[in-house]
Amino acid sequence: MSAMHVAIVGAGPSGFYAAQALLAHDQHARVDLFEKLPAPFGLVRYGVAPDHPKIRSVIRIFNRIASSDRFVYRGNVTIGRDVSVDELRTHYSAVILACGLEEPAPLDIPGAALPGCVPAADFARWYNGHPDFAHRTFTLDSTTAVIIGHGNVAVDAARILAQSDHTLRKTDMPDYALNALRASRIRDIFLIGRRGPVQARFASQEIAELGNLPDARLLIRPEDLILDEASQAELDAPDNHAARRTMDVLQALSGFSSARPKNIHLRFLLSPAALYGNDRVESIRFERNRLTGAPGHLIATGTGEFVDLDCGLVFTSIGHRGKPLPGVPFEPARGIVPNDKGRVIDNGEAVPGLYVSGWMKRGPTGLIGNDKADSFETVTCLMEDAPSLPTRNPRGMAELLHSRHVEPVSYSDWRRIDEEEIRRGEMHGKPREKFLSFDAIRPFMQ
Ligand code: NAP
Repeated sequence: MSAMHVAIVGAGPSGFYAAQALLAHDQHARVDLFEKLPAPFGLVRYGVAPDHPKIRSVIRIFNRIASSDRFVYRGNVTIGRDVSVDELRTHYSAVILACGLEEPAPLDIPGAALPGCVPAADFARWYNGHPDFAHRTFTLDSTTAVIIGHGNVAVDAARILAQSDHTLRKTDMPDYALNALRASRIRDIFLIGRRGPVQARFASQEIAELGNLPDARLLIRPEDLILDEASQAELDAPDNHAARRTMDVLQALSGFSSARPKNIHLRFLLSPAALYGNDRVESIRFERNRLTGAPGHLIATGTGEFVDLDCGLVFTSIGHRGKPLPGVPFEPARGIVPNDKGRVIDNGEAVPGLYVSGWMKRGPTGLIGNDKADSFETVTCLMEDAPSLPTRNPRGMAELLHSRHVEPVSYSDWRRIDEEEIRRGEMHGKPREKFLSFDAIRPFMQ
């Protein structure tokens, strides 16, 4: 029997979990995992904050998946540029797209293009040594930063700005980011959401951690936790355990706390209206909101009352969007690939042999663990379709890449790079010192 050979695009959690499910479901299936960056692991390497190393321990599972002799890693290959999705489909029995959503959602207000207003996701990639962001500079010379959004990405940005140097220097944060944060003058960090505390999307443990930082205190005004009737009903809904946990933490942390060098101010019911400044951000105007609608569907509605705040840095953290991939249907409104349980849908019909998994499939929600069930569902569909999928052998792929001057990174290359990063890190008391460019890793490739 000929083995099914599947291409997976994107070596983040959903790509690895799709590979795991395929290799486990079908004892003969083979997987080629394509990744545009040289290094694997996507958001686990370049999104998860360096002071959260436990979340990164999932890499051990990914390494086990990659140890299968039916698994091939092709890093440093950009699908849609070096090889098209259509070409992949002619070389493989099936293609699973697991590329994530890379574009931060834009803040569409006057002044948002001013220097000093940047996506928090860019800041995260910068402090994580992402090769496309390592050259960026973040101006941390003002005393006040504003972060717009009440999700976990916003909380990560606030925590990194407020985190102690003692904590950060023991992480794998690159030296340029450590030095910039050490020199930072930011003392007040405003974490601002457009709705109330019951609707906040951050996890209770993440906000609890903000209340327990060595160099910063979290300031929550008790009056901001007084709920209107609809929010109270939303909080009391039987399945709203997450909001109740968050409210318990907020209640416990509200009110007085002793002075620290930095302050994180948690504020609610404020929508950004405009940014002002001459050649960079100098202040931001918010409109006060009230909540309208039915419990479970409460939306922020402007009151016509405005407040201004002086600040030199604004991080936007209001979600992510996908970019259309040539040859792949795209749903602009949600910024995802239209699909039915992972089968890509075009004009109401499933596209034969084309699947999607992860944020590209369901939108930018959920934790790394959610990708496992998501990829499992996609692979289950693929296995149901397996009898109708063509048998293909991508023998020509290496030659095709070579003819296009692409230099793929293999998993054994990556293991050498990984070892070298760890070795260089150990010399400075860090878990690893990341390579910041393809040129830097080339000597470790075979
Ligand atoms: P998110 O959880 O969707 O939060 C987005 C925030 O932006 C919400 O507060 C939302 O408010 C707000 N927002 C959206 N549009 C806005 C606008 N036009 N003006 C003002 N505010 C606006 O997104 P995220 O923080 O990017 O996180 C993405 C996913 O990654 C989440 O599932 C998250 O849990 C996960 N993640 C987890 C961790 C961790 O576990 N440590 C770390 C980072 C990310 P509304 O609610 O009113 O829409």
